[in-house]
Amino acid sequence: MQKLKYESPAIQKMNAGLMNKYGSRTEYEPVKQIDGVAVKDLIAQYGSPLFVISERTIRRTYQNAVRAFKTRYPKVQFAWSYKTNYINAVCKVFHQEGSWAEVVSGFEYRKALGNGVPGNKIIFNGPEKTNEELKLAINNDSLIHIDHFEELYQLIDLSDELGKKPRVAIRVNMDTGIYPMWDRFGFNYENGQAWSAIQKIVASGKLQLTGLHCHIGTFMLSTDAYAIAVKKLGDLAMNAKTQLNTQIQYLDLGGGLPSANTLRGAYLPGSDTIPSVDEFAEAITNALLQLGFSSNELPLLILESGRALIDDAGYLLGSVLANKRLSDGRRATIMDFGVNILFTSFWYEHKISPAQDFTHHTEDMVLYGPLCMNIDVVRQSVNLPLLNRGDQVVVHKVGAYNMTQWMQFIQMRPNVVMIDEKGNTHLIREAETLEYIEQMEKMPDHLQHFSL
Ligand SMILES: *Cc1c(COP(=O)(O)O)cnc(C)c1O
Repeated sequence: MQKLKYESPAIQKMNAGLMNKYGSRTEYEPVKQIDGVAVKDLIAQYGSPLFVISERTIRRTYQNAVRAFKTRYPKVQFAWSYKTNYINAVCKVFHQEGSWAEVVSGFEYRKALGNGVPGNKIIFNGPEKTNEELKLAINNDSLIHIDHFEELYQLIDLSDELGKKPRVAIRVNMDTGIYPMWDRFGFNYENGQAWSAIQKIVASGKLQLTGLHCHIGTFMLSTDAYAIAVKKLGDLAMNAKTQLNTQIQYLDLGGGLPSANTLRGAYLPGSDTIPSVDEFAEAITNALLQLGFSSNELPLLILESGRALIDDAGYLLGSVLANKRLSDGRRATIMDFGVNILFTSFWYEHKISPAQDFTHHTEDMVLYGPLCMNIDVVRQSVNLPLLNRGDQVVVHKVGAYNMTQWMQFIQMRPNVVMIDEKGNTHLIREAETLEYIEQMEKMPDHLQHFSL
């Protein structure tokens, strides 16, 4: 018989601490493996903390999203949002599945080219595109999504210089009933700017207006908002056709679908409250089919979904450094990962599971990271089994925006591994080293030496 784990008895002062709205424990079973690979073996081989990506989960999530849309509408194309996770191995899984690339900077654009994405399957978004970057995109026949009038005039100039007719779309922002409105990107629908941009593009004769784009927000919980967005883009497309004799080939609805994470301050876990990808597909495709286009003129539907396609596939493994009692009596557990690598802990209540057997004792606790900074809080209040130094944990659904927004602050960024569909692990990004970090620094001569 296996020896049970000993937990010393403790008397605790009653303490409200920060309110835990659920009030009950959430973890009943340890999570000892990911896709059949033991957590303790992963940490033994690659260190702690460690990001782990499940290739199987990426493919399943992607295929499920494609199915949800393609079974309801005949022309659908996904484009992988690079900024959500641009580790090349991750991007390549999406490209193998048939996804184009959606990039928001020249740096991401070159990354997509480097990954082998054909130029005409790269969507170039974002407010900053230099002349050089735009020329590259024009010469590659990429889909350039215009953000502001300055960029529109810049493109007209460049098309003269290159003697080419770039393929462009405009990004449109609009009131979809979700506030605050993301009206800082693109041209506004309600005040007529979007229509004015369309008129200017067509009148110039220098650009091919191929599509209309919007990205109405992120972690959207309303399927109606997308239906409104389709209606407004469709209205512009119809007017372009009837008034300007210009056929719009695609409507790009952007991203914004939620993952099953729980937002900070939410009463119920995300897995119980967010609409499914099928519900979003239903709302979007119904609205598309009602626009009034004949079946041979239906626009291609492009989706740039980011977090909904990768969050579930990402895990962060970590270890407990220490425990202490705060001055008000609350238990505090210090982990070896913090907001430096788990940026999304600023807006999610991440689910965290112990990775080994535990006793029945649980307590409301604060989870801190290792940074010498007061902001380094992973969970403000979470009811977990007691964790001891050296115990390991698994943080769930961290695939989106952590491996791009992580910061090299106080600590270096850890290894990232991918578990393939056969259960083999591959190192896909090495942990940083001091040499790597210092390689960009330069030392002026007069600062070379000192004596203390
Ligand atoms: C960030 C971004 C996306 C992806 O957004 P998600 O909310 O992660 O789905 C898609 N399109 C554009 C233009 C973006 O900026």
